[in-house]
Amino acid sequence: MSIEQKRVLTTAIPGPRSRALHARKVAAVSSGVSTGLPIYVERAGGGIVVDVDGNQLIDFGSGIAVTSVGNAAPRVVEAVQRQVADFTHTCFMVTPYEEYLAVCEQLNALTPGDHEKRSALFNSGAEAVENAIKVARHFTGRQAVVAFDHAYHGRTNLTMALTAKNMPYKDGFGPFAGEIHRVPMAYPYRWPTGRETCADEAFAEFVQRVHTQVGEQNTAAVILEPIQGEGGFIVPAPGFVATVARWCKDHGILFIADEIQTGFCRTGDWFASEHEDVVPDIVTVAKGIAGGLPLAGVTGRADVMDSVHGGGLGGTYGGNPVACAAALAAIETMRTDDLAARARAIEALFRPRLEALAAKYDQVGDIRGRGAMLAVELVASADDKTPNAALTSAVNAFCHHEGLITLTCGTYGNVFRFLPPLVAGDDLLSEGLDILEAAFAASV
Ligand code: PMP
Repeated sequence: MSIEQKRVLTTAIPGPRSRALHARKVAAVSSGVSTGLPIYVERAGGGIVVDVDGNQLIDFGSGIAVTSVGNAAPRVVEAVQRQVADFTHTCFMVTPYEEYLAVCEQLNALTPGDHEKRSALFNSGAEAVENAIKVARHFTGRQAVVAFDHAYHGRTNLTMALTAKNMPYKDGFGPFAGEIHRVPMAYPYRWPTGRETCADEAFAEFVQRVHTQVGEQNTAAVILEPIQGEGGFIVPAPGFVATVARWCKDHGILFIADEIQTGFCRTGDWFASEHEDVVPDIVTVAKGIAGGLPLAGVTGRADVMDSVHGGGLGGTYGGNPVACAAALAAIETMRTDDLAARARAIEALFRPRLEALAAKYDQVGDIRGRGAMLAVELVASADDKTPNAALTSAVNAFCHHEGLITLTCGTYGNVFRFLPPLVAGDDLLSEGLDILEAAFAASV
């Protein structure tokens, strides 16, 4: 790895060159596109991001769960360079190429279940979700789609409708796509009657809502993130996801697992559905699949995916050969280096440190997640679960100034989430956790 895996601060964060670039950003880029930490990046690799002022920051975000194999991962770099030199684009719908097939074969083999599958490739997570819904409606001949509280599925018109949170994703952008129905998530920490009753009560409520407000016979699909991402790293109460999936099967409703954030080793297995032995009818993937290049996929039962007429799915760039070459190299890296095991090791490193924080500060209300997708939810106190967004942003700002790239999330903006590259070393991650501890000490 060419970048020394070490945090180095040469200037204040952000430094003068980043600040100058940010002035150009303000003048040139729509203010609707905001930046969480305006250090401008020059290079990145492993668990380090190097900015234009020469600062080296520790990465706890992976570009929102994308660079699981690291930035500029050697196999990905080599594959991309080779592919760019061979050809950059033909459009798979015009003259196809083998790399697209190879990615689909990998997706069919790696996603849960050993039934016959087919895949299709797209550019972004939102586009994958849109296409999963198109396929589900076409196959079932039904229109309604059920999504959950705290869900995030994207920013296009249909996926905004599926996404739960208004600010900043939806506010003023309507009207939204129709036939989307929302139901409560089995959110253990905030379930009114407590964790023990959460799965059963949430399932009963789900069934009741779909039955009385939508009608099973009108419902094409239920879409769910096996661990909710932007909504707050909410791990559904044990058993809930499997029960919903089983119920869908009984009613001819397709169960779509949105594994865009959870997929590709992030949670300690290839896909988070596996932790609950759930075999979805359709899986959507993006983010971690291609080491940073834009690629997304929809993988599903062969009968479902093949129900669409020829030409019904596609797009100019979907399954671009360079992105496919990157994905094949990233998947090979995950397999060869057993990055699923590495995600579990990262959890083993983080958990005791997060538990120590919770023991010390009663503003740490909940610790949750799986593998290298972990979070703490911050509240007013142990007895008062009022979301503490102010403390969350104070801790976040402290980390940023100390050279640790951190992300927040959650419907109430009070969740601090950890998504380090799976190739980041233990020393670097431990140093990041030291900074987090200092941030709590300074901010509480
Ligand atoms: N679904 C989930 C679960 C996601 O986390 C995201 C991105 N945060 C999306 C869909 C949308 O992906 P994209 O930003 O690539 O459109």
